[in-house]
Amino acid sequence: MSYAKGLQEVGDGLYAYLQPDGGWGWSNSGLIVDGEQTLLVDTLFDLRLTEQMLREMRRAAPAAARIDTLVNTHANGDHCYGNQLVGDAMIVASERTAQEMSELPPATMAALIEQAPQLGELGEFFLRCFGAFEFDGIELTLPRRTFSEELTLHVGARELRLIEVGPAHTRGDTLVHLPAERVLFTGDILFSGAHPIAWAGPVSNWIAACDQIAALDPAVIVPGHGALAEVAQVAELKAYFEYLYEQARVHYEAGETPLQAARAMRLDRWADWRESERLVVNVANIYSELDDKREPLDALTAFQQMAELASTS
Ligand SMILES: [Zn+2]
Repeated sequence: MSYAKGLQEVGDGLYAYLQPDGGWGWSNSGLIVDGEQTLLVDTLFDLRLTEQMLREMRRAAPAAARIDTLVNTHANGDHCYGNQLVGDAMIVASERTAQEMSELPPATMAALIEQAPQLGELGEFFLRCFGAFEFDGIELTLPRRTFSEELTLHVGARELRLIEVGPAHTRGDTLVHLPAERVLFTGDILFSGAHPIAWAGPVSNWIAACDQIAALDPAVIVPGHGALAEVAQVAELKAYFEYLYEQARVHYEAGETPLQAARAMRLDRWADWRESERLVVNVANIYSELDDKREPLDALTAFQQMAELASTS
């Protein structure tokens, strides 16, 4: 299947909405329809993009004029800042996702964009990542129903399983699985063709999530970013993390900082993955697992170090 912008049918009444090139903020979403019932998997980063997506969904599936249920796979704004446009839906997320969601309100993003021109290298990088989005006027709309570990939902006659595999990318990452249709929406547990980013970690938990996905044996995977994927890409992600773990350990033992390690590391067969600046965040996360006196990078430090890595690589 091609990686084109917009809605693609991935099964009867099952859709993926893709936003190439899948870089910072350019997330995917999903729609599940059965008869008159609808469920949306994630909204987009701003209201304009989410409105455009909903319009295209209504054209393909008139029942999408009313979204009954919205599932947010995790707390990052590029998966939930559009929630207010389907504010009447039952919004569902893991308990940990719901908690995390209130911590980075859209107004903070709007303020950071405004200050960016005065922030030097960091500001430039931030604008390169997020300058295309419109954060003004967004009212954060939080989940109303939360769960831990697993929740089964129905859309018409279809059965869906929400499976919490976080903390990994964020604290409460959730997979949306349709066992009968063998379709899986992973949220940002999978970025296809790009480096993942372990905001929360631990990375070992993310490796376990890769095994869990393989055990579900989906035929089609809709990743949080990038082109549609298959289980083979999840195996590649697992191999990447295992490689990183091995490499990070060597650099850690040599006394290098995560930034020094990320600069020195050879990316082997993952060298063509996009957003390689995320490497420093992933390495720092592995360091925090190797050494419990270390914390994963906070968001500001993470962006500073990614900006530095991006400017030198
Ligand atoms: Zn995302």
